[in-house]
Amino acid sequence: MRMDITNKCNLRCNTCYFSINGFRARGAFMSPDQFGVVCEKLAGRAHRLGFSCAFEPLIHPQFNEILKHLPLLGECQTAINTNGLLLNKTLVRNICESELQWLSVSLDGATQDTNALVRNNSCFTKIIERMQELDGLRKAMNHGPKIQVSFTLLQDNMAELPNMVDLCLSFGADRLIVRHVISIAGCPMSQRSCLHFPERTTALIEEARKRAADVGLDIWLPVGAPRTEEELVMDCKDPFESFYIYSDGECYPCTFLADAESCGNIQRDSVDGILHAKSISMVRKRFRSGNISKTCMTCLRDMQNVGIKEKRHFTVRFED
Ligand code: SF4
Repeated sequence: MRMDITNKCNLRCNTCYFSINGFRARGAFMSPDQFGVVCEKLAGRAHRLGFSCAFEPLIHPQFNEILKHLPLLGECQTAINTNGLLLNKTLVRNICESELQWLSVSLDGATQDTNALVRNNSCFTKIIERMQELDGLRKAMNHGPKIQVSFTLLQDNMAELPNMVDLCLSFGADRLIVRHVISIAGCPMSQRSCLHFPERTTALIEEARKRAADVGLDIWLPVGAPRTEEELVMDCKDPFESFYIYSDGECYPCTFLADAESCGNIQRDSVDGILHAKSISMVRKRFRSGNISKTCMTCLRDMQNVGIKEKRHFTVRFED
């Protein structure tokens, strides 16, 4: 299950829809009490909850209160994705004391300068320091989340892919996830995919794979050359077994279909009612008949090029 507790971000990265002129996200902050309702409804039903997908969770003014509700989820694995810029000493401690199990930080370069090409107004050194604090504290407390680094591969940063392994080691990251940039109309850098240079991309991917194996880092790597439409497998399970919850509680068949008709509101409706709503049933019907939408087709192509299905929730599409 994926959801967002905010509809905002403090950065305007060149690969993100927030960099599109005039982009405005509707919605609101989900209150801690409302988040508690979500946790109670998903307890025993969800095996994993990512409670930030399309927006920055640490911008939530009551993030610490949100964390306090995580025990309500029972055995469910919990995760957030963050740009890391808002981490501070208090937040690092609160996170280590909480039941959060995975913290994924987005870094798009192994150096300050390269990272800054993508992540406008971010502060690489500050983020690395905070990640080192997080790693130190979780070791001292013997409690705290696993750390994942999310790296979006572009022509502009591909040369630093092998060095990302060393960067991960500098703050004890447990996993490095690499994906290709996904095309979003209007984003300054979203058309600069490495897939235009398959030989060089494949060589760098192999170098990173070897370096990670040498040091024992878990690494998830994308394909080096693009898959054709004929090679696509129509195997998306999202609308068959989950839904996406926006920060105002409205639910959709998946993160990418957040402009579809709502399947219900998690504050008001039951999980079963949402799973059987008309708009989610329609998406399933289209999959079963082979008549899938252009959004799904583009999504499948991008995600299978990326090679990591679980990564699909990191980017929202506006192209069609
Ligand atoms: S947009 Fe992508 S994740 Fe969503 S239902 Fe279609 S193929 Fe699945």
